[in-house]
Amino acid sequence: MNIAAHTVVTLNYTLKDSDGVLLDTSEGRQPLVYLHGVGALIPGLEKELDDKQKGDQVIAVIQPEDAYGSRRDDLLKLVSKSGFQGDEEMHEGMQVQLQTEHGPAIAIISKIEGDDVTLDLNHPLADMVLHFDVTVVDVRPATDEEISHGHVHGPGGHHH
Ligand code: ZN
Repeated sequence: MNIAAHTVVTLNYTLKDSDGVLLDTSEGRQPLVYLHGVGALIPGLEKELDDKQKGDQVIAVIQPEDAYGSRRDDLLKLVSKSGFQGDEEMHEGMQVQLQTEHGPAIAIISKIEGDDVTLDLNHPLADMVLHFDVTVVDVRPATDEEISHGHVHGPGGHHH
């Protein structure tokens, strides 16, 4: 069957940046299993996968506007160093986990000046052109329950 809204798709993928640097891959891990058409993947990749079937290989170059968007200055937050526990350990480039009103978020410490710490909450892949090499391993219809939950159950998905 062909990939369409409300199919469950199993993929192997490799993601590189424009310089050919490996960013992410399913190689050596479990393939990715997701429910197509509910925004589980970035829009540009879902569009490239539409109508493909088991065994197809998809080579896709996705622009930032169809991926993780542009970097935003309003996602740089100035906070006080004394507000952190274990601040001895802090250094620029370090990842920290924050509690926000939307739940936990990852930020990068982009600058430390005295007690001023600048946190960067932009997605690490914002502004990047993404180069995907994807192989469709399997396509099956989603169950009614998966469609109503908006995610995949069973192998590679949720168990509950
Ligand atoms: Zn569920």
